[in-house]
Amino acid sequence: MALIVQKYGGTSVGSVERIQAVAARVQRWRNDGHDVVVVVSAMSGETNRLIALAEEIQPEPTARELDVLLSTGEQVTTALLSMALHSLGCSAVSLNGGQVRVLTDTAHTKARIKSIDKERIQSHLQQGAVVVVAGFQGVDQDNNITTLGRGGSDTTAVALAAALSASECQIYTDVDGVYTTDPRVVGNARRLDKITFEEMLEMSSLGSKVLQIRAVEFAGKYAVPLRVLSSFEEGPGTLITLEDESTVEAPVISGIAFNRDEAKLTVVGIPDIPGVAYRILGPISDANIEVDVIVQNVAEDNTTDLTFTVHRNDMARAAEILQNTAEQLGASEVRTDDKIAKLSIVGVGMRSHAGVASKMFGALAQDNVNIQLITTSEIKISVVVDEKFLELAVRSLHEAFELDQAV
Ligand code: ASP
Ligand code: MG
Repeated sequence: MALIVQKYGGTSVGSVERIQAVAARVQRWRNDGHDVVVVVSAMSGETNRLIALAEEIQPEPTARELDVLLSTGEQVTTALLSMALHSLGCSAVSLNGGQVRVLTDTAHTKARIKSIDKERIQSHLQQGAVVVVAGFQGVDQDNNITTLGRGGSDTTAVALAAALSASECQIYTDVDGVYTTDPRVVGNARRLDKITFEEMLEMSSLGSKVLQIRAVEFAGKYAVPLRVLSSFEEGPGTLITLEDESTVEAPVISGIAFNRDEAKLTVVGIPDIPGVAYRILGPISDANIEVDVIVQNVAEDNTTDLTFTVHRNDMARAAEILQNTAEQLGASEVRTDDKIAKLSIVGVGMRSHAGVASKMFGALAQDNVNIQLITTSEIKISVVVDEKFLELAVRSLHEAFELDQAV
């Protein structure tokens, strides 16, 4: 008998039939003797629909009112799911963020949770009820409704699991777990039984959008075991946990993440003097443009080149700023390229294994994939390549590291 927090995303509660299926699943957990707290998202498409409505009236909706509006989506699904449980004869009660008292700061539309009252939830649980909580929302100290940012229901679920010391936080979604890489690119990509928080962060920040990044950070910080599973089929899903002894035996590489969202900018022929990196990147960050990979080489002829990547949507603006700086510095040229892709191999096992990078480069060489940039961290090696070679590169690395094979 354990306390489980389950979170169902928008597609899982996207219709009456699906809500009924969720209710049946919740009831099975109850019948097995578990206490269950359920966190729900709004029905799929609902949050977007509400935002569009708001924007028809006010192009940049007042944030406080937008939160009042958006929070209704999750309130609908808590009530419907509770009703579905009642009609199965299962005791259940719905609570919105304010009723639980999920206390947040006042940053409307991107609020952060400060604390969660557990008394009310616990007393409902003691009376044998399933507690159905509206995800994505809270209240500030003056009881203004706040929301946590898109995808925020994951964070609600993890925060509740942490507050209630739940045995597990289960995130039910439309995929049956975290994969070694995108199965649409590599046919024999494999569902991972287990992955560490750190690896999951690298995988999700690179585009495996299974979980909200903030929720993974939160779960890692409070050591809440997190499980991603399908709400449409039975299966163990993927458990996201702390690194432990069993991870020592784990594969060197857990997965391959990639994205096509970045663009590359290079300033060529910069005088090689102190402060140029700062003068080039300062104005970029002042413009609130996030920089990812940065590479600068050793200078030979008293000039150097500096290359970095930004989100593709920011490339034009970044290029404009660079033109300016380049002229001031007397650099010879600014080059841009948005036909690039970044891919990374990720794995905590890298820490204790040599030769991972050379194996990666060897596999890419064999397939004639030219590497443009390389960066590494303790548990990740990333390369930037021409986007037309991305899929080939991912497949060849998946094969080289035998990621299709269970360990
Ligand atoms: N309904 C919100 C959204 O669509 C929160 C969530 O689904 O997690 O972003
Ligand atoms: Mg969602």
